[in-house]
Amino acid sequence: MSIFASFCQAVFGFLISLLLVYNLRMSSFLPKSIQVLIEEFGRLPGIGPKSAQRLAMHLLHSPESRTHQLAEAVGGLKNGLQFCNVCWNIAEESLCRLCSNPARNQRQICVVEEILDVVAIEKTLEYKGVYHVLHGTLSPVDGIGPEQIKIEALMERVRAFSGHETIKTDVAQPTSKVEVILATNPGLEGETTAMYLMRLLKPLGVKITRIARGLPVGGDLDYADELTLTKAMQGRMDYV
Ligand code: ZN
Repeated sequence: MSIFASFCQAVFGFLISLLLVYNLRMSSFLPKSIQVLIEEFGRLPGIGPKSAQRLAMHLLHSPESRTHQLAEAVGGLKNGLQFCNVCWNIAEESLCRLCSNPARNQRQICVVEEILDVVAIEKTLEYKGVYHVLHGTLSPVDGIGPEQIKIEALMERVRAFSGHETIKTDVAQPTSKVEVILATNPGLEGETTAMYLMRLLKPLGVKITRIARGLPVGGDLDYADELTLTKAMQGRMDYV
């Protein structure tokens, strides 16, 4: 074994022992309730062990009323919530607030990957149509096919408009007025999904548009600022 390899092994061993001592100290030093809280925070996306500890300590120093409010908000998170029957956005009733709003253009459907994308586009205050949340993207590498995301629900919805099926007679409208905006993220999986949807939708004769490339490739809609998203929505083009 070379000197360098021996050195690396020694450093690695030292780091492992440091980690073990640190965890041992953490587990023996802190009360169980705080340890559990740190563990739970650590399971949240984007929260590392250090951030989890800071959050737990922050709550420890917060007034009791604040911690009770947080506990109630977390505990009641799923009470009375469901997915919208039409667009699969989060809703308090069978229809979400956007689908049940008569001021929204029901014939303009913006297809997004996640609920947070709806929030991001709504923040621009520019879009007056409705949405369809796919709850993911096509990703053959991860075994995610059309059945795993809400593609069939979208197709049923568009067919109802275009008269191919009469699921909801009250929403049946002339085909020419229906626009499907493909607003999946501009990364590989988002583009693959948009292309797949375009091929499915094209025979139905609806107008298909794709948001403009104002967004960074590989970026997520929910991280974009309002101006970038507005430009992307305004600059959308026919998707062929
Ligand atoms: Zn809805």
